[in-house]
Amino acid sequence: MYLNGVASKKITYDAIVIGSGISGGYAAKELCEAGLKTLVLERGRDVKHIQDYPTAMTDPWDLPHHGKLPQEVIDENPIVKRCYAFDEATQHFFVRDKEHPYIQEKPFDWIRGYQVGGKSLLWARQTQRWSDYEFEAPARDGFAVDWPIRYADLAPWYSKVEKFVGISGNKDGIKSLPDGEFLPAWELNCLEKHIQKSVKENYANRHVIIGRCAHLTKPNPIHLAQGRGQCQARHLCYRGCPFGGYFSSNSATLPWAAKTGNLTLRPHSVVHSIIYDEQKGKAKGVRVVDSETKEVMEFYAKIIFVNAATLNTNLILLNSTSNRFQQGLGNDNGLLGKYVAFHNYRGSGGATFEGFEDQYYLGRRPTTAFMPSFRNLEKQEMDFQRGYMVAFSASRAGWQQDINQPTFGEDYKAKATNVGPWGVFIMMQGETVPREENHLRLSTDKKDAWGVPQLITSIGYDAENDEKMMKDFHQQATEMLEKAGCKNIYMSDSKQAPGLDIHEMGGVRMGKDPKTSLLNKFNQLHTCKNVFVTDGACMTSVGNQNPSLTFMALTARAVNHAVAEMKKGSL
Ligand SMILES: Cc1cc2nc3c(=O)[nH]c(=O)nc-3n(C[C@H](O)[C@H](O)[C@H](O)COP(=O)(O)OP(=O)(O)OC[C@H]3O[C@@H](n4cnc5c(N)ncnc54)[C@H](O)[C@@H]3O)c2cc1C
Repeated sequence: MYLNGVASKKITYDAIVIGSGISGGYAAKELCEAGLKTLVLERGRDVKHIQDYPTAMTDPWDLPHHGKLPQEVIDENPIVKRCYAFDEATQHFFVRDKEHPYIQEKPFDWIRGYQVGGKSLLWARQTQRWSDYEFEAPARDGFAVDWPIRYADLAPWYSKVEKFVGISGNKDGIKSLPDGEFLPAWELNCLEKHIQKSVKENYANRHVIIGRCAHLTKPNPIHLAQGRGQCQARHLCYRGCPFGGYFSSNSATLPWAAKTGNLTLRPHSVVHSIIYDEQKGKAKGVRVVDSETKEVMEFYAKIIFVNAATLNTNLILLNSTSNRFQQGLGNDNGLLGKYVAFHNYRGSGGATFEGFEDQYYLGRRPTTAFMPSFRNLEKQEMDFQRGYMVAFSASRAGWQQDINQPTFGEDYKAKATNVGPWGVFIMMQGETVPREENHLRLSTDKKDAWGVPQLITSIGYDAENDEKMMKDFHQQATEMLEKAGCKNIYMSDSKQAPGLDIHEMGGVRMGKDPKTSLLNKFNQLHTCKNVFVTDGACMTSVGNQNPSLTFMALTARAVNHAVAEMKKGSL
């Protein structure tokens, strides 16, 4: 049917974007704004802003199990049940274990959201810029390969993204966590301020700040033009926000792209592989399986952005074989799928605090206190490589009822209206070092329901480096809490599998040399220049910051380059 010129024209676009999550949504916005007819292919169902958030306004007593998951859902989902955000009110945005199997050569909790908007509906919205401490790390410390870019290359793109997305925060003036374009910040509560002061008094290079996050504390005209309004501090974000108070593809980038008239969004479209044109020496389109009808179809475009999220992007490229690329698109050096890394969240802890009994806080603030990395900054000084951020929050216990006591009467009301003592929760977000053995590959015999080979994950901790880093966090967190006068301090190791951090990155890394990397400094496959990878798969190393802001900034920069190259006729 594609021989007919008219039919072929209908399925030919200027650009194709694979995936509609955080990075794909941003690619779509930029491409459409630049005037390119853009097809976004999304494997999941459509989720329309507001109308498809079924639990956004539901009170706990109106949920069949008051927000708790029924036991059968827990039993059927041993992987996704471990994600803290998976509950009765949010479960419809998460992938169920059985529906999308993969093979864990080593334990890996793959947490996914297959729908229009991807995980942008589910993320915790913490956003920090990288600094040159991260971009220079592989070269300085001798791991992975040197990044082909530095902070200065990305800084203007961070600014562009931040202005559109809406990031709240303070200009803290910390070299390892560059400031951005901020809306007013949330506030630390009294105990957090007390710990902030104690840390300042006791440590020269440690800084407690309020977490920067993608919430509209005071919308600017650009946010109002997106139809979004001020965050109501409900902290029901994982259900989808009808106010557009936090950033998601559904509330911001996709509707913005649609307004240009250049967007075609096709849900239920599982991208099977990218089609390589052997004569022209570039990609010509993608092969898609309709998830509902299982019909196989092709779509064509001049450029292709792969934004299916790290692991699926690796899968699609590994599955895109041709005479020229027999082991996956762009994979001449055999490194595709290798050097995957993630964040080490294993260490956490807590404490109690006596005092501030006459103080409280208002609303459900959607962020916490943060301490940028303070280890190995200027030079290697610890017995482990790289560093970790610390996140902590203080709150008052309360309203926790003893289920053996009656939940009515005078005593109950008295208890229910008194708040309990202050407590602190503290956790690490550590950088792991990409290693070749941490890799992804395709099963040669197992396929999913759409005929796509299943992914094999072979990703683990570095017993030495990651454990030493966690021990250091335990010691330092204990010491900082002690110095601040906290009591009953405990530390723990969740021993959680990689993947549950939901910050997996790499496999299609950027670099200067095609012999040791897959992508150039503009996220183009070295050997197939009209294919761009701008999600987490492109990351050469993983830093210690929450990654999604960096994915969006890299995406905006890559689109800008793609459009300029197309104008020159070189793509
Ligand atoms: C509970 C939770 C908390 C998080 N907190 C934070 C945080 O605070 N800060 C932060 O920076 N990050 C956070 N993250 C991670 C963040 O969500 C991801 O980094 C981000 O969504 C990645 O963007 P992406 O575009 O690569 O992928 P996604 O947003 O996952 O989008 C990928 C899309 O591609 C689609 N897709 C996949 N395969 C195919 C295919 N073959 N064909 C077509 N479509 C396909 C998927 O259905 C999906 O819609 C969190 C994630 C979760 C779940």
